[in-house]
Amino acid sequence: MKPTFSRILLKLSGEALMGDLAYGADPDRIAAIAREVKQTHDRGVEIAIVVGGGNIYRGLSGAAAGMDRATGDYMGMLATVLNALALQDALEKVGAVTRVMSAIEISEVAEPYIRRRAMRHLERGRIVIFAAGTGNPFFTTDTAAALRALEIHAEVILMAKNGVEGVYTADPRKVPDAKFIDTISHREALEQQLEVMDVTALSLCMDNGLPIHVFNMDDEGNIDRIVCGERVGTVVATGG
Ligand code: UDP
Repeated sequence: MKPTFSRILLKLSGEALMGDLAYGADPDRIAAIAREVKQTHDRGVEIAIVVGGGNIYRGLSGAAAGMDRATGDYMGMLATVLNALALQDALEKVGAVTRVMSAIEISEVAEPYIRRRAMRHLERGRIVIFAAGTGNPFFTTDTAAALRALEIHAEVILMAKNGVEGVYTADPRKVPDAKFIDTISHREALEQQLEVMDVTALSLCMDNGLPIHVFNMDDEGNIDRIVCGERVGTVVATGG
């Protein structure tokens, strides 16, 4: 089957790598994600990944404990590098060729982010993992996902969630009668303050007409289903 998309950006939160752990990254979970990504990549789809760091550190929790917010955020960005390296290792174990590109220079472990080089890697069939978010404090890896997706001309962002099928009218884990939303526009999602991605990231996608597929990462095979055109999760798109 011919895939619907030829270049995608997958956003994995730190939580997605945590599995059943309370903190950190679960090697079995990461291995399972790597297998899924590889399966889709084998269809000829170019894949870039932005990985979060919330399973290890969030700048806001540092700030809440009295730390300078920017310092906390830099720690958060470094946490994403740890996840990126773990993911790279797992992907290479299943036979993928990968590159980690970091928005903060750490040349011993990752390439610096250079847009044209990232695109070249993708064209050559390498899976590119973007680490360190945008490289700026006060942002999130959701914004990094939107920014990088636009820069590399990805056709869609696949926004992985855990334990929920997509976007709901309220958090289904807290509000039992929350309704699942099949399709919605960026503007409606912003106005209704729905949990797609943070406001900065969602605005960036809206302004540039970049569609987002929000889906449950816990159902194995969902990435492949979306890429093959199956209706999975919630589609956030202009005019949706
Ligand atoms: N962060 C940042 N700038 C960025 C991306 C991330 O300062 O461009 C910091 C921020 O402190 C954030 C942490 O890195 O809390 C981890 O990223 P995020 O919370 O987006 O991870 P996720 O929720 O996806 O696991």
